[in-house]
Amino acid sequence: TVEVRVSAARKSYGNTPVLDGLDLEVGRGEFLVVVGPSGSGKSTLLRVLAGLEHLDAGEVAWPASENEDRPAIGVVFQQPLLMPWLTVRENVALGGRYRANHGRFARSDVDDLLERFGLAELADARPARLSGGQAQRAAVARAVAVRPRLLLLDEPFSALDPATRHALQDWLRELVAQLELTVVLVTHDVDEALYLGHRIALLDGSGTVAAEWTGTPPQDR
Ligand code: ADP
Ligand code: ADP
Repeated sequence: TVEVRVSAARKSYGNTPVLDGLDLEVGRGEFLVVVGPSGSGKSTLLRVLAGLEHLDAGEVAWPASENEDRPAIGVVFQQPLLMPWLTVRENVALGGRYRANHGRFARSDVDDLLERFGLAELADARPARLSGGQAQRAAVARAVAVRPRLLLLDEPFSALDPATRHALQDWLRELVAQLELTVVLVTHDVDEALYLGHRIALLDGSGTVAAEWTGTPPQDR
């Protein structure tokens, strides 16, 4: 099942084409990593998938979502962007408020998520008390609380120290397998791409997918 299909996507800023006839499909349950150097259009592609940016030409189609223009999408950026005046529990619950069916998340649902994300002890803490890795896990929890059809991550671990980055890569891989999420992660880190991706698409600055690989079966680092 194709979850989302980007066809002949074009996007320029001023006279500079960033996406130049890009085609890409993401299958349900797939973990796709888009890798490429800085400025190759990874963030632009991610924002297009999130519906935060319009294409100049081409289209984004959700063939499996007949009744919705765009299904629920969770987004995680390089910075966790937690609301500093809210507790960790309130921040995660915020994700639930924006679910497609607009239902409120029960407190027990949020507590289950916090447990799963290793944040139960910190539920009543403010974000300022969290380490970088904990804050980014809270940001992923908030995105997952949306019950997204697609989870988008833009350089989610680039701001973390190497040990924390490796721990969160392992943790994300586990989480994605358990929850059977469909994921697109963009990164400039080739090691990260090879480690996480079921499939890897290379943006090389040409504005199109220059190459694709199928990832090797996950192995322990
Ligand atoms: P990447 O995520 O691969 O670093 P981006 O998608 O962020 O690439 O950016 C691709 C190119 O588009 C860069 O040259 C960047 O400066 C430019 N760009 C991105 N967003 C904007 C914007 N909102 N306005 C103008 N130029 C932009
Ligand atoms: P990333 O770290 O994900 O590559 P960028 O540095 O490409 O992020 O972009 C960060 C933000 O700045 C984005 O919202 C992007 O739209 C904006 N941006 C990037 N390049 C430009 C630019 N040349 N002019 C205006 N806005 C830009």
